[in-house]
Amino acid sequence: MIQSASLVWDAHAGIFPSPTLDLKVLEDWSANHVDYVSINVGFDVMTRDETLATLAAYRHGILAQQDRYVLAGTMAEVRAAKESGRLAVSFDLEGINALGGDVNMVGVYHALGVRQMLFAYNLSNAAAGGCHDEDTGLTAYGSSILAEMNRLGIIVDASHAGFRTSMDLMEQSQTPVVFSHSNPGAVLNHQRNINDVQIKACAQQGGVIGLNGLGIFLGNNDISPETMLRHLFYLFDLVGPAHVGLGFDSTPGTEIDLSVILRARPDFWPQGQQYDTPHIGHGGPSCIPDLIKGMQARGLTDGEIAGVLGENFARVASAVWK
Ligand SMILES: [Zn+2]
Repeated sequence: MIQSASLVWDAHAGIFPSPTLDLKVLEDWSANHVDYVSINVGFDVMTRDETLATLAAYRHGILAQQDRYVLAGTMAEVRAAKESGRLAVSFDLEGINALGGDVNMVGVYHALGVRQMLFAYNLSNAAAGGCHDEDTGLTAYGSSILAEMNRLGIIVDASHAGFRTSMDLMEQSQTPVVFSHSNPGAVLNHQRNINDVQIKACAQQGGVIGLNGLGIFLGNNDISPETMLRHLFYLFDLVGPAHVGLGFDSTPGTEIDLSVILRARPDFWPQGQQYDTPHIGHGGPSCIPDLIKGMQARGLTDGEIAGVLGENFARVASAVWK
């Protein structure tokens, strides 16, 4: 009931970007009453060409199915998609290698539907420090990308970045910064998770932290609702539910053993970080009813729950997107 009445926002899908991806995977979000999802069209493992080819294929696939999907660039389009019972989609980039070294590419990606960008993907790059790399800050090139994102209205996303870079982003950005898919490190100590200083800084500048549903970031490859709720409750206690959302990072409908892909690139997914866990669990949108029950049992109001389900990220999008 509360789910159908609320705007449900998944701030990041964990699909491996590929021009040959069957967009049928999107049905997992529709079937589970999600209203908006951000899909990654590239990450630093890919080149600019591969990213553009993926983006072109996804645009074509989504625009060819306008009875089901809306390529949304504004909050008005997201709300209208919900009204008409369709899934709103926009794109994100995980790292700046997709720019090919050219800050003007930010505008190209924006024009093609990218509405959220991360600066690094685990490893450091020309713009920023990654969470599995040396803790370097935002570079001058990174600051120029940030200014361009602020100007165009792209959500600044500090997931996968290192500590210093995330703090630099939150200090320099003119708009709220999110962690679209990062869990609290105090609940599970993992380099991909974020510490209390980052979480508090995020809330203080109006941002939102999205719960990640991958078992290795939740702990012991456990994707039970109880474990997800432990992460959510920790965030609620630290910064309040108005700064918490969902970014499940899920890869639906695939029989692929994620660890096989991750083991193939030990540079981006280093040893000692549980990426070699066989059959990494993906908690996704089907968990939402259990999360709602848990939040109700915890005493959250309907308004607070609606915030976590989507209105908190929507508040950021309203402030950022133009
Ligand atoms: Zn990611």
